[in-house]
Amino acid sequence: MKIAIFGAGQLAMMMVQADTEKKHKYTVIDPSESPPACKYAEHIQTEYTDINTIKKISNDCDLATIDFENVDVSAMKEIEKEIPVYPSSRALEICQDRIKEKDLFKHLEISTTNYCEINSLEDLKNNINNKKSYILKTRRFGYDGKNQYRIYPGTRPSTNLVSSPCILEEFVEFQAEVSLIAVRSVNGTVFFYPLVENRHKDGILDMSIYPSNYQHLQKSAEDIGSKLLDKMNYVGVLVVEFFIDKNDYLVANEMAPRVHNSGHWTIEGSNISQFSAHISAITNSIKFVKLKLKPSFMYNIISNHIAEDKILQLSNKFDMYFHDYHKSSRDKRKLGHITCTVEDKDKLKEKIKEFKSII
Ligand code: AMP
Repeated sequence: MKIAIFGAGQLAMMMVQADTEKKHKYTVIDPSESPPACKYAEHIQTEYTDINTIKKISNDCDLATIDFENVDVSAMKEIEKEIPVYPSSRALEICQDRIKEKDLFKHLEISTTNYCEINSLEDLKNNINNKKSYILKTRRFGYDGKNQYRIYPGTRPSTNLVSSPCILEEFVEFQAEVSLIAVRSVNGTVFFYPLVENRHKDGILDMSIYPSNYQHLQKSAEDIGSKLLDKMNYVGVLVVEFFIDKNDYLVANEMAPRVHNSGHWTIEGSNISQFSAHISAITNSIKFVKLKLKPSFMYNIISNHIAEDKILQLSNKFDMYFHDYHKSSRDKRKLGHITCTVEDKDKLKEKIKEFKSII
């Protein structure tokens, strides 16, 4: 099949790399000059809304998918008139807007934090209880903790906080954060990876750990995942991020309508990676799924590259897989990741501690 991927970052790169048998042909669309995926696929360097590209993709490709969620929905709707877009423009529209996303959680009776829409300083003042803690987020274009502002009890919000439509969320005092990677194929086959624990630093994912200490919540997480997949008639990988509150309940935070950073460990930690699962799901080639998993942890390389001697030192001590996205250093930019697999899950905690002490 000919597959168009909107966005040519590391996620698109790993999707193409996952197709080791080269079953499909890939075209990646991205305005930047040499994004990570351009070495592995035909690259059309253009804006996502370029009408000629939309026509070309609609004519030449069998289906389209994405590597980042903020693609232009109207462009995807145009393409959808001719070829399937997975996930659909409808699913993208929901996941691009934090209010629509949370409204869907509410509609499906999925527990989420208290929230409200904020369009002015007046709204903000009217909805803040001085005794509570909140996070104000822009409705759109927020990721990796960007466009978010913590409001502490007793603080007075100032004007410049609401320059675009926002959502005000009550701060969840969580014990941990986990994510569920859900997969649904064109023919409706569904499977889930086990919950992974995600640890963040400055709002950016620092580490994902499998197995998590929250395996007892797997069934509840899968019930939520199923509801969301069904309601959106979703095809491909969908990731649901949760807080685990103090009472051990899952509280849905947000969804990513794509392969996700918290699933990178599946490249080495699973017989089926999230990337190959996504490609198989959208090309309707999932026949039989039996996951075989290894205890693993994934560490994100952010802002600065890691010195070669350190990589060497780590590789001598761990079953370690280093993924370089070939990007230049920049503050808060994801430059690569490292996955370590661990033979004995009881040694996971100790191994993470040792890894952290070196890195
Ligand atoms: P998000 O972009 O919504 O995933 O937020 C990034 C990170 O900020 C999350 O992974 C949490 O660590 C933190 N965060 C976001 N929203 C909340 C919330 N309502 N309560 C507590 N922490 C939050």
